[in-house]
Amino acid sequence: MGFDFLQLINLPLWNRKLLNGYWILIGLSVLLSIVYNAIGSSTGYYDASPLISLNTLWMCIGLAVLELANFWLKRWNDYLVIIGGCLIPFVLIYSFPEDSVLLTMLYLPIVISVIYFQPRKVIFSAVLSVSAFLALYTLCLRDTALYSDTDLITMTIVLMCGTVVALGIVSRGSELLKHLRQSLASSQDLMVRNVLMDKQLKIDALTELYNHMSFHEYLEKLIEQGEKYDLSIQLAVVDIDHFKKVNDTYGHRAGDAVLKKVALSIKLLVSANDFIARYGGEEFVIIFTDMELNEALINLENIRMFIAEQPHEELGGEPVTISIGVRDYRKGCTKEELFAGADEALYEAKRGGRNRTVVYDPERQKTTDP
Ligand code: GH3
Ligand code: MG
Ligand code: MG
Repeated sequence: MGFDFLQLINLPLWNRKLLNGYWILIGLSVLLSIVYNAIGSSTGYYDASPLISLNTLWMCIGLAVLELANFWLKRWNDYLVIIGGCLIPFVLIYSFPEDSVLLTMLYLPIVISVIYFQPRKVIFSAVLSVSAFLALYTLCLRDTALYSDTDLITMTIVLMCGTVVALGIVSRGSELLKHLRQSLASSQDLMVRNVLMDKQLKIDALTELYNHMSFHEYLEKLIEQGEKYDLSIQLAVVDIDHFKKVNDTYGHRAGDAVLKKVALSIKLLVSANDFIARYGGEEFVIIFTDMELNEALINLENIRMFIAEQPHEELGGEPVTISIGVRDYRKGCTKEELFAGADEALYEAKRGGRNRTVVYDPERQKTTDP
């Protein structure tokens, strides 16, 4: 799947964090100068040095150059951050060559390179660390009494050992990333399948309206809400008139095309808040939720008249008509009663001659003739 896994690690953010860390290290080095001076003045062993030494200034300039390069050369950001990780120990060791503990900081670029999970960056950092050590040895370390030429080999070996460990971590990390990538791909695949299955389960394939099952689920939830709050709900059952004759005369393919067009017309003429489903065969249901019965009736009559005037080339230019039964919801009315009422009104519309809308009324049935 088209997912860049390294994005998961959010490298630009980590590069920024590392660069911030370098600035903090420079701050700490100034602090170290203070301590160094304090020890020097109390023991008389060290010469006092300025708080912001020339070397610290160089470190700041070096890091500022890296920040600029980091801004312009986005492609090389990771390498620039590794170089920064070498610059700080280099200047610190150069500033305090007698402090042998600082030598461990040469591991910094190697440790940093691990976060990129790329062996070539670990190798690059190792070359950088060893080169920095060799340069430092030539420039200042060999002048101290602390190191001999054999330390040159020892330190190089120590750095190499660190590099091997870092490569091991990178290799293990890559293995984990591979597993993670595979499981992510399969979970994404599963998600797509679920969405498709969910669609298949809820949508009617021919008309792309909600299907019978979705209708019942939706109506059930709506009635639950209707019992709690004052909701205005109307349920309409729509049936195409003499559809069997359409199939018998023009064939099922023509019948299917007409079904699709009738579904599309209903979809176009109701608002986004209304719910339409294919109840089954040539029957549809519409649920209005944000209007009074009279408004719903106006909508239904618009649909009925629009469909009655829509010619179908599959039927030799003839239109089809629909009959509609509608029932207004009242608190205490069950889902079954609501549907049975609308269905009864539909049969009344059929009995009354079809192509009409009938509103269910327990006492008196009101009919709107075409
Ligand atoms: P009425 O006016 O009383 O509703 O008559 P009718 O012929 O529409 O009703 P009837 O129930 O007798 O026939 C419904 C027809 O709808 C029968 C069936 O072949 C057809 N039908 C149901 N589903 C489909 C479908 O998916 N495609 C096609 N082409 N026809 C369908
Ligand atoms: Mg029918
Ligand atoms: Mg019918």
